[in-house]
Amino acid sequence: MIGKGLIGTATAKYLAKSSDSVLIIGPDEPTDFSSATMFASHYDQARAQRIINFTPMWTQLSVDSVNAYPGLEAESGITFHNGAGCIYLAESKDEYLASVPAQAKQFNLPYQVLENASDVAKLAPEFAFDREVQGIYEPGPAGTINPRALVQAQLAVFEKSGGSVIRDVATDVSRNDSGWLVTTATGEQIRATNVVVAGGSFSNYHNLLPVTLDILVKSEVVILAQVSAEQAGALANLPSLLYEIHEPDFDGIYLMRPVQYPDGNWYLKMGMNQRIDLFTNSLTELNAWFQGQAHAQYLPILQREIEKLFPTINFLSFQTKPCVISRTTTLNPYIDVIEPGLFVATGCNGYSAMTSDGQGKVAANLVLTGQYPAGYQASDFMVVTK
Ligand SMILES: Cc1cc2nc3c(=O)[nH]c(=O)nc-3n(C[C@H](O)[C@H](O)[C@H](O)COP(=O)(O)OP(=O)(O)OC[C@H]3O[C@@H](n4cnc5c(N)ncnc54)[C@H](O)[C@@H]3O)c2cc1C
Repeated sequence: MIGKGLIGTATAKYLAKSSDSVLIIGPDEPTDFSSATMFASHYDQARAQRIINFTPMWTQLSVDSVNAYPGLEAESGITFHNGAGCIYLAESKDEYLASVPAQAKQFNLPYQVLENASDVAKLAPEFAFDREVQGIYEPGPAGTINPRALVQAQLAVFEKSGGSVIRDVATDVSRNDSGWLVTTATGEQIRATNVVVAGGSFSNYHNLLPVTLDILVKSEVVILAQVSAEQAGALANLPSLLYEIHEPDFDGIYLMRPVQYPDGNWYLKMGMNQRIDLFTNSLTELNAWFQGQAHAQYLPILQREIEKLFPTINFLSFQTKPCVISRTTTLNPYIDVIEPGLFVATGCNGYSAMTSDGQGKVAANLVLTGQYPAGYQASDFMVVTK
């Protein structure tokens, strides 16, 4: 397995449960971004978890994922999931909202229609809106997950099942007589029968694949808005918000209830797309994005919008953090065979924290049996290359 992120650790966990000699190659989160050269999309404390997802295939992945959480938390002893619910809002009835009743029926999932801002206020009076909104509320297990803790939980179960980890960057994957030869940045060489590339937005770099995945890599910036511990307690049950708002300089707000970060402080986190977002296929540009301070330019709009959404909250400080997502051309994850014994499991599309356990199960099944599990089809995960 190449990549110690959400998809890599989930896949490796499932593989290690039924096969020996499963190895993950992947570096830890860097302590100093300015000098690091490998990053990821999961260095954070909160991700939204919804269940009724963008399409039935994504919903199946969400359902499979949340169904696995209680067992994963129990087996690892690590808590990463909170079921405070999730609110989805749009300015008018969009394609997603139109799909909700049929999806809810298909998967037998509960939800509540929110006709307007007053309906939202009954669930979360802290939110303020400057326009008409409508949407749905999903109760727990929708809510939040902690992506760092989820990776640790997947790793704990993986290692319990006999899996091992090399904390290094893979720099080359080549065919050899009996399978594959993986070379790492420190010069280690590992022979493998099967290789799964789960490098997230970094999967196209470092000679990992003989093809170029058709993915669009995009910068992402979040604001961490600090609140007091007392305020965080008052907002402990705030549902996650996915808000399809469209403005000339930004769109698509997502935010999560305050959670505690490693510095001990409590932060409400919010993100969005901005007109100035960076789209790049260059590793040099991507590394410069994480290493540098360009993300600070995104603060004014983020701060303006979070203060509009929460007019009654006294924020103590604001800071931004850089991140990255990638979009596939199919808008589905790529979980496929590139060559016999060489697999890919990537393609975040912005939904692959909440569905990562399910994606890992699909990828492991493909490696072990050559088949996609019941409920999924090969066409759902077909890779597109450039
Ligand atoms: C700001 C932000 C907010 C988000 N919000 C949500 C949300 O609310 N809900 C949700 O579901 N999703 C969300 N996402 C998306 C989600 O975090 C990603 O889809 C998810 O992290 C993808 O998992 P991954 O394992 O594919 O990639 P990653 O988490 O990036 O992991 C890939 C790993 O591969 C490693 N790697 C890469 N190349 C190599 C190599 N050559 N050798 C060894 N290791 C390598 C990297 O170091 C990394 O650890 C968000 C993303 C961002 C950036």
